[in-house]
Amino acid sequence: MVLSKTERKIIEDSIRDIKDFPKPGIVFKDITTLLNNKEAYGVLMNHLYQRYKEYNLDYIAGIDARGFIFGAALAQMLGLGFVPIRKKGKLPYTTISEKYSLEYGVDEVEVHIDAFSEIPNARVLIIDDLIATGGTANAAATLVKQTGAECVEACFIIGLGFLDGIKNLEEKTDVYSLIEMD
Ligand code: AMP
Repeated sequence: MVLSKTERKIIEDSIRDIKDFPKPGIVFKDITTLLNNKEAYGVLMNHLYQRYKEYNLDYIAGIDARGFIFGAALAQMLGLGFVPIRKKGKLPYTTISEKYSLEYGVDEVEVHIDAFSEIPNARVLIIDDLIATGGTANAAATLVKQTGAECVEACFIIGLGFLDGIKNLEEKTDVYSLIEMD
């Protein structure tokens, strides 16, 4: 199940470029203009539902913070539980964590140790709005595996084509990105 040309255009046209945010040289892909556009948001969520309803998933895991918006909505549509993968220090119970490199310095994501424990060998879909270097998603996939669950696929609305993020992540899990952008 892939996007039709028309669906792709509706979604693509709804994403806004913000130059030099959050710092000079970065073009920020703003998905708030997708979310407040009921046609684009509907087309996107319907596509995700159609694609993943056959995947026999057990959980959707969303990456902090924009992955929560798409992930929680999709989990509800598919009748599945939702698990947040959060930036360090936000989750209240026992966590496992994974560090990853940024351009300057490191960051860390965490998940509750028992997040997927109700279903043995749970089949998990990771979701975020965008993949750039792939560092965040790689760390998220590592965490899912460390809990004993299976990362079936990692899904992104936007793949930033000029970086090797998707290629790197594909060593760990299947990857699906709806729209390639520069
Ligand atoms: P990365 O770990 O480099 O793949 O970065 C992915 C994370 O950073 C995602 O959670 C994105 O929401 C965010 N991000 C990175 N670059 C951009 C960008 N150009 N526009 C919007 N979000 C971005």
